[in-house]
Amino acid sequence: MRVKKPTSKRTTTRMREGIKKKAAAQRRKNKKLAKKDVTWKSRANKDPGIPASFPYKEEIINELEQNRLAEKERREQLKLKRQQAREAALARGEEVEEAMDEDEDPEEEGGLSALMESAQQAAREYDGEDSDGMVDSDEDVEYELSDTEDKSDIEKSRKAYDKIFKAVVEASDVILYVLDARDPEATRLRKVEQAVLQSGGKRLIFILNKVDLVPTNVLSQWVSFLKTFFPTVPVKASPGATGANMYNKNLSSALTSKHLMEALKSYATKSNLKRSIVVGVIGYPNVGKSSIINALTNRHGNLKACPVGNMPGVTTTMREVKIDNKLKILDSPGIVFPDEVSLKKASQEAKLALLSAVTPKNIRDPAGVVEVLLKRLSKDNAMADALKAYYQIPALPSSDLKEFTKQFLIHVARARGRLTKGGVPHIESAALNVLNDWRDGRITGWTLPNASKAHKESEGPKSAARGDREPAKVEQTTVVTEWAKEFDLDGLLGDNFGLDS
Ligand code: GDP
Repeated sequence: MRVKKPTSKRTTTRMREGIKKKAAAQRRKNKKLAKKDVTWKSRANKDPGIPASFPYKEEIINELEQNRLAEKERREQLKLKRQQAREAALARGEEVEEAMDEDEDPEEEGGLSALMESAQQAAREYDGEDSDGMVDSDEDVEYELSDTEDKSDIEKSRKAYDKIFKAVVEASDVILYVLDARDPEATRLRKVEQAVLQSGGKRLIFILNKVDLVPTNVLSQWVSFLKTFFPTVPVKASPGATGANMYNKNLSSALTSKHLMEALKSYATKSNLKRSIVVGVIGYPNVGKSSIINALTNRHGNLKACPVGNMPGVTTTMREVKIDNKLKILDSPGIVFPDEVSLKKASQEAKLALLSAVTPKNIRDPAGVVEVLLKRLSKDNAMADALKAYYQIPALPSSDLKEFTKQFLIHVARARGRLTKGGVPHIESAALNVLNDWRDGRITGWTLPNASKAHKESEGPKSAARGDREPAKVEQTTVVTEWAKEFDLDGLLGDNFGLDS
């Protein structure tokens, strides 16, 4: 008989280390998840028990059992004593408190009282007290955190960013409000515009960024529309991701930032200020604020643009970059946070996720966001065709949008190898993949101003009913006619906003 050679379990160091790394990552993940779990758990480590191989296991178990019996007996004695004392007191005619454990099964007594104790301990922890009755701030914070776990990072850091936002607006003479050309209305917050209008003396310009992600006709419609509110400059601040769709090739990064810089210089020259004007950049997360600051400070003959010190009393990270004697750019963008947004609502989350204002790891239902995206893209034949072509979507059996989204994600998961063990399509991973493609412009979609509700509101009779819009409308006429002149936008961009090739 042939004896089979024993197979060795030795593996390469690389593989062993890889396993170790993965196991550590998994442990970290589990620990993080466990921290977020609000159900109360005992802090005591679980008793691992006695290993079966331990030679004195039997003896130890016997000893434990004897201890348990002795403890039980002791408790029974105690109970008996209490009962006798109670009866004696009753006989003397004194009032006696009802004993809690009177009807308890002595067998369960230990377990129940331990449970009671742990429940009381949990209640004390909940109220912010530890067992000594002292307030334990750490405990409190932890509970707070787990209570607010479904708030995203955005929500948590909102206050800190609000401070910077206010500082940027206060310090600036000209505010560049960056909007995403794919959905400018969704990145606009009227409150911000109102605040600037009421601030007196400050100027606001819309920067319609990411012009490479929308077709020219869509862009020119948006520029014409936005121009009726504030001076608007189309910009491509960054080259965009590789493999992205490219529209408006004539509007290069260099050209658009040159336009913007000239507009700012024109304003700086025309303004009567004795000091240089300060330009601040604000906008929703991920609309391209930093890219615009970089484009303005690093290019167009301003390679030597230099920081001129920290802004006092605001934040140590906020710097001004000197462009020339008349112009300075604040190099910290002010983040505008979506207003009245409850991130708990799936529809709001989807809207923000599609603006890349929520980081992928914080999206709780990526497939739901893809569903909203598909709904948006299916409204326009050109967008739908581009999507079909990009993912090579076959004819999918679908009864409704939800089912179609599922089938679509299964298709993407298979096509991109997003499969779990056994070849099951990983829907969530496929959805995140699609959202990455959307973020990087590999699939594109856009909205039109005429279709936007806000547009109708601002022009229709309903606008009068909205008290906050009415005064703005009056001032808006001045803004539109006067501000555009100050920035010389018509001269710079021509009648067609620089969209001619
Ligand atoms: P911020 O969060 O507003 O400061 O945004 P960033 O400047 O960090 O830009 C966010 C993302 O948008 C980055 O991945 C940029 O590469 C991208 N981005 C910025 N401007 C443009 C643009 O004009 N076109 C395209 N396609 N992507 C852009």
